[in-house]
Amino acid sequence: MNNFTHQRAQEQSELTVQLSELQEEMAFTKGIAGPLYSAFVIQEPQQANCELHGHFEQNYLTLEYRGRLSERRSRCPHCLKNAIDAAEIRKRQIRIDELTEQANIPPRFTSSEFNNFDILNTCASQNISVLRDYAASWPTMLAAGTSLIMCGKPGTGKNHLAVALAKDIIRNHESAVLMTSVMRIIRAVRRSWDKGADMREEDVIGIYTSRDLLIIDEVGIQYGSDSEKIILFDILNARYEDMLPTVLISNLAPVEIAEVIGERLMDRMVEGDGATLIFDWPSYRSRKGAVSA
Ligand SMILES: [Zn+2]
Repeated sequence: MNNFTHQRAQEQSELTVQLSELQEEMAFTKGIAGPLYSAFVIQEPQQANCELHGHFEQNYLTLEYRGRLSERRSRCPHCLKNAIDAAEIRKRQIRIDELTEQANIPPRFTSSEFNNFDILNTCASQNISVLRDYAASWPTMLAAGTSLIMCGKPGTGKNHLAVALAKDIIRNHESAVLMTSVMRIIRAVRRSWDKGADMREEDVIGIYTSRDLLIIDEVGIQYGSDSEKIILFDILNARYEDMLPTVLISNLAPVEIAEVIGERLMDRMVEGDGATLIFDWPSYRSRKGAVSA
């Protein structure tokens, strides 16, 4: 665990404690004192004043023990509500930061969002709207294991949109997403075959089969061997069996992708609400080049 992760874990647990204390205090504003105060005597509620929110009815408990008087007074419910909201927002932000960090978003695309994507044509506009809908209905997509294929020419914004999708799902649904490529998967699995490797093959595979959403780039690049082809197949198949969504990104046409992953898996990828999005227009990069040339 690195320092940053450690700090975050500590803040998370502090926030959890803080939230449960605040919630206990909030319950007391409604007259629920909790087991710690069972020995206290309930007094008549009093009129109290909050500098920010004005008058409120204050619950009041007392306990006399060995000649000493202890008391407990409830706090302004509006102040408590604000404190609870702030702690919850902070807790959520920490979780989102953590998920974003674990998503392995390529540095080149860290600023990619749906709203800064250049919509060049009708096809691009249709694709982005399918992806926006997919993100917006993520709980349904996740429950049904709905997958997507994004394929077509390089430089048409597939990666930009895949990153935008990942970020949206993390931000709005706090799901675990992982972006990777076929090459990375194969290298990671292959490393686990080495003598003295620090991870076993099933642990490596587990990384890819456990995230809520797995996005795999470069589908269709040349494989070294059949055993490597089987790795990808196994991961896709395991996710399908567990009804977990996968997004495949490829520069190949759908027919060619089917040759790589097999007809059956290809059909499974677009089952239900799943879709194949075709990015079939001149490259954004070469178009820009053409303008400047
Ligand atoms: Zn107040």
